[in-house]
Amino acid sequence: QAKAVNRGRFSFFSEEMNSMAQERLALEGALRDALRGGDFELHYQPQIHLRDHRLHGVEALARWPHPQLGNISPGRFIPIAEESGLIGELGKWALEEACFQLSDWRRRGIKVPSISVNLSATNFHDLELPQFVSDLLQRYSLSPTDLTLEITETVLMDTNPSTNQTIAAVHALGVPLAMDDFGTGYSSLGYLRKLPVGELKLDQSFVRDMVKDEAVSALTNAVIRIGESLKLIVVAEGVEDADQYELLIKQGCDVAQGYYFSRPLTADNLEIWIRDFMAGKENPG
Ligand code: C2E
Ligand code: MG
Ligand code: MG
Ligand code: MG
Repeated sequence: QAKAVNRGRFSFFSEEMNSMAQERLALEGALRDALRGGDFELHYQPQIHLRDHRLHGVEALARWPHPQLGNISPGRFIPIAEESGLIGELGKWALEEACFQLSDWRRRGIKVPSISVNLSATNFHDLELPQFVSDLLQRYSLSPTDLTLEITETVLMDTNPSTNQTIAAVHALGVPLAMDDFGTGYSSLGYLRKLPVGELKLDQSFVRDMVKDEAVSALTNAVIRIGESLKLIVVAEGVEDADQYELLIKQGCDVAQGYYFSRPLTADNLEIWIRDFMAGKENPG
């Protein structure tokens, strides 16, 4: 009797798992096709200097508009890309697309100072990454500081033997590195001494709570002081309102990005945004 129940339950779970696994597999296949078929897009979010309202650059964020399923969020497709080994390809695609877009903007006189591209730890396992980046810069007539590579703390905890070498080689090219989601990982502050990062991105979870929670604003202040003393640019992520904006100015943060300034935009809409932004600077108020 018990056996029959268990058997029934077992087959119930296995069916459910089966369908989850199948959905996952289908999505993985669709992701591979989308990547190779050119269906992915990059959207661009402006980053603004708090001191003088100059445009610092834009962050490129991958978007997957799926014909049947609608927009699939990075929160959904990045983990699948990581697990299926497609994340390396996604990062390289984003690098090329960003370089193409920047060169196109330059050619047409649209002043985007630089583009930040998110890379996975996996991209740094690839000893050919530095050459890949260097070739792109050449092909699109860009200089190393036209790009910034965003890495997360997982890159630093990575035990893959190629990682240190790849990071050093990218740094040797003169391409700046940014530490994304700073403060959320597990690693110690010690690596900031060893790693050639030029930028710290204060994680949006801190920015979200900094106005309503004094302990959090003490933390954001501490991160900004660390950035200041190590001469790193601190970029606050996820700035959504004027209170956060003003507190970040008060704490001396360098750069901010978030919905308060703009959502991530298509390339065309970013152009419009930049025109308005420049016009606003010429005629303030
Ligand atoms: P991230 O690099 O930390 O990017 C910031 C995320 O915050 C983006 O989410 C952005 O749309 C969102 N954001 C910006 N301003 C605000 C705001 O004011 N409020 C809130 N609540 N959110 C804001 P998104 O585009 O969904 O991307 C999520 C993550 O996916 C990224 O986090 C990044 O880790 C990853 N990702 C995106 N594109 C790529 C890519 O091309 N390659 C890799 N490896 N990862 C990517
Ligand atoms: Mg990022
Ligand atoms: Mg981030
Ligand atoms: Mg984040």
